[in-house]
Amino acid sequence: MKKKELMKIDPPEFTPYLKRIAKKDGPVKSQYWGADKNYKYGKYLRVKEEKGYLVVSVFLAQFVRAGAKHPVYVLYIDKRTNDFITFETDTGKWRKSMLYNLDWPRYMYGSGTYISRRDKKLVCRYLETETGEYKELERYQLRVREQQLTARHKKKTDVWDEVMKQVPGIPKDWERWILKNVISKHYIFYKYKRGGATEGYCTHCGRIVPIKEPKYNGSGICSRCGQEINFKSVDKSKSIWTETEAAYLIQRCRKGIILRLFEVRMVLGKGDFYNPEIWYSEVKRIFYDDQFREDPYYYGDFKNKGTRWIAGESDSRRVGFYYYYSCSPIYGKVYPRTLPDLEKKELMRTGLRQWIQGNTILNPRKYLGAWRKIPVLEQIIKAGLTRLAGELVENPEKLVWKDSTGELAKRLRIDKAKLKRLRKMDGGFHVLCWLQQEKKEDICLPDELIVWFIGNDILPKDLAFIHDRMSYVQIKNYLVRQNNNFSESQ
Ligand SMILES: [Zn+2]
Repeated sequence: MKKKELMKIDPPEFTPYLKRIAKKDGPVKSQYWGADKNYKYGKYLRVKEEKGYLVVSVFLAQFVRAGAKHPVYVLYIDKRTNDFITFETDTGKWRKSMLYNLDWPRYMYGSGTYISRRDKKLVCRYLETETGEYKELERYQLRVREQQLTARHKKKTDVWDEVMKQVPGIPKDWERWILKNVISKHYIFYKYKRGGATEGYCTHCGRIVPIKEPKYNGSGICSRCGQEINFKSVDKSKSIWTETEAAYLIQRCRKGIILRLFEVRMVLGKGDFYNPEIWYSEVKRIFYDDQFREDPYYYGDFKNKGTRWIAGESDSRRVGFYYYYSCSPIYGKVYPRTLPDLEKKELMRTGLRQWIQGNTILNPRKYLGAWRKIPVLEQIIKAGLTRLAGELVENPEKLVWKDSTGELAKRLRIDKAKLKRLRKMDGGFHVLCWLQQEKKEDICLPDELIVWFIGNDILPKDLAFIHDRMSYVQIKNYLVRQNNNFSESQ
């Protein structure tokens, strides 16, 4: 709204007629909590239309009864742009708030508003409303604010929707893969027979398989596919929803790759156990650009306007009026068939594919986060240092020193022979610490000694205070002796 233009319009003035009404309407004791007095009319409105604006002067009973001629507020409405603004004469400031949120004396609660029949008609004509009452001004403002909010939201959601357009479709064998590989709980359903059922339906392999002396809810193994199962009688069992499990799908997209997290369950309808169905719901999408910078989205309720993809992270999700913390598991299986192709390009230098192959359930996002911090992780995994890799994925900060380039042994600050020992011992970070110490001091410690120290939670830095006087073997012997003495004295 152009304030300069508005200032050129003279607001409607208080009339002698209104003054007569106000004079007669003296304050009475208020029935309302918090207010000390009431008028029949707490405020008086005068309205005019000029230069396409509706101009509303608002006078307060208390001031006009004392002889004031000027309005407390002047509201300007511009229906061409669907906007409004209010001038506060006391402070000389422009207020963007709705009438409802402006400052009012307490007697406004419980007092009415005077507006003449002529002015009501003007309001009706201008706003295309029915009565022209004060309430309609308030309602109009509320509607304008809602429209403005929706427009603001749309600006955001349009951008998000554009990002979502690059998400590829689900693979054709997606549900089948989930049933076979992600769902960990399976069943064999059998019909009760005198003398014991001899065959049943396995939800994992989808076949009728021979069984022996099934016990209801008892566990067993499918003789055909080798899956661990529980026996269920067709007649006794109710419908079953398996626990929520996580499944990941990694795909190529316009900017790089997208990592998609799904919550999945198997549903077995009562009486229809031979047709297991897969229920899945996508809860997270993380886009990675060619530098593997994350752009995360989650599926949730946006501003109470329904569920959709929203930029950012969210741990809590809202359903109806209730918030709950999403308990979706984040360690899950990764769909393997998109990986060989991605490995040729996007994933080539990450080691992610090798990490997926070496772990039954995992969190690929955590892996990529750790790898970005310590790129040497790729070499560690490809060298078969499984335990060390696992520890570093969880706590990449452990490798605090600046990453150098070159061969793995050098980057880990050991030599080739020690790297070999590290692999043979399937050592983690603590073994690495001891091997680094060996190299630093140019000594060689037996593997058993290293294992003993680690088993007792002792690292080289813990012994620095005494090591200048005792060798590591002497320290160990001393500690063992101390411990024995301690035990004997108990
Ligand atoms: Zn089976």
